[in-house]
Amino acid sequence: MMAPLKVEDYLSELLSVTPVLPTQVLPLAEALGRVCARDYQARFPVPPFTNSAMDGFAVRFEDLTSFPLTLQVAGEVAAGASGDLECGPGQAIRIMTGAPLPKGADTVVPVELTDQPAGAAPLPQQVVINEPVKPQANVRRQGENVQVGGPVFPAGQVLSATALSALASVGFGELEVFARPRVAVISTGDELVAAGEPLGPGQIPDSNSVLLRGLLQAAGYEVEVLRTSSDTPDDFAQLLASVADDGFDVAITTGGVSAGAYDVVKAVTAQQGFSFHKVAMQPGKPQGFGQLSGRDRKCLMLALPGNPVSVFVSFHTFVVPILGAMQGIPVERLTSLGARGRSATFPESFKSPAGRRQFVPVRFDNADASVVERTHTLGSGSHLVASLPLAEGLAIIPEEWKQVEAGVSVPVLDLRLPWF
Ligand code: AMP
Ligand code: MG
Repeated sequence: MMAPLKVEDYLSELLSVTPVLPTQVLPLAEALGRVCARDYQARFPVPPFTNSAMDGFAVRFEDLTSFPLTLQVAGEVAAGASGDLECGPGQAIRIMTGAPLPKGADTVVPVELTDQPAGAAPLPQQVVINEPVKPQANVRRQGENVQVGGPVFPAGQVLSATALSALASVGFGELEVFARPRVAVISTGDELVAAGEPLGPGQIPDSNSVLLRGLLQAAGYEVEVLRTSSDTPDDFAQLLASVADDGFDVAITTGGVSAGAYDVVKAVTAQQGFSFHKVAMQPGKPQGFGQLSGRDRKCLMLALPGNPVSVFVSFHTFVVPILGAMQGIPVERLTSLGARGRSATFPESFKSPAGRRQFVPVRFDNADASVVERTHTLGSGSHLVASLPLAEGLAIIPEEWKQVEAGVSVPVLDLRLPWF
């Protein structure tokens, strides 16, 4: 029998057959959550013109020689004004936050340091400046945040709200992003009934499709749960036949990949060149993958095991990296815990299977996430679906350990943070 594959070796096999999807151009407001497909440099400087940081009076600093001091008010500029007024010697121009600094002026005196009231008031003829300010005070210089051509956002990063606001500010209304994979989910098993249905003898509710749909939808993916397949090979084969034609980029099946007599996924797809492996992990040992060919595209199929916690662990270990790779996230970021990696201890010791990397659903016990507790005393049991809502992280116990000692640090994947 072949030795089980290490988790990272199986993941590299998967990544080696994962295509990067084409890019597309989207209106900026629709690009939230997408992976940026090119490096963006500023088209506009930020700020785009030199302007006032305060409501007050634009002045020439050289005029501010003694206090109190009276200046003649030569006009005013509000936000959105063209700014072609000029501030001559001995003059002040009333100015609002964000308004362009008039020619000649180099400093803004806040209204609070003058004899004028804050808020709506008629334009005075004179203003008394009561206190000194520093040269250039309250002036935001053109380009002091970023100059034209300066770097703003790189390819391979997810476009967050802050990224979109930065890119809008430097002149972009549309963005080039990677297409987001469309995902099909297929549960298999003669024992499955839909959520809410009564259970006959030997039946269980199909929770895997609910889990996968939810994980994907919450992250903004388009996902379709296809009809549940029975354990009859013809039925499963029929269901698969149309998946690639239907425009899915990824198909995820659950169940039917272990050593049972009716393991339908393995039975059907092994004849189509799929690879099946035992991966040295617990839960999630039996795994398979392959390509479904459609009329105009291929669809990468991941055959996950059937047990719900195995599905959850496999999703975070294999499906998430695949989705990232398809969208142009650099592979190094998909094969390490990166920013989602923490280090934490358990308050109690427990056994761990030798030779398999154990993934234990945990919740964080303290504010700095340095102590974790198993979500159930049965730990990483693959059937413990009812405790999954408590899982905030997956503790990752090294293959060699037979026992996790209380107080000894282990790596933890923080599931509360975004995937990439
Ligand atoms: P299998 O690999 O098909 O033998 O499934 C392994 C275990 O997972 C069995 O106990 C199944 O009943 C259970 N299982 C399979 N599919 C699902 C599903 N969609 N929802 C919940 N449990 C499942
Ligand atoms: Mg089954």
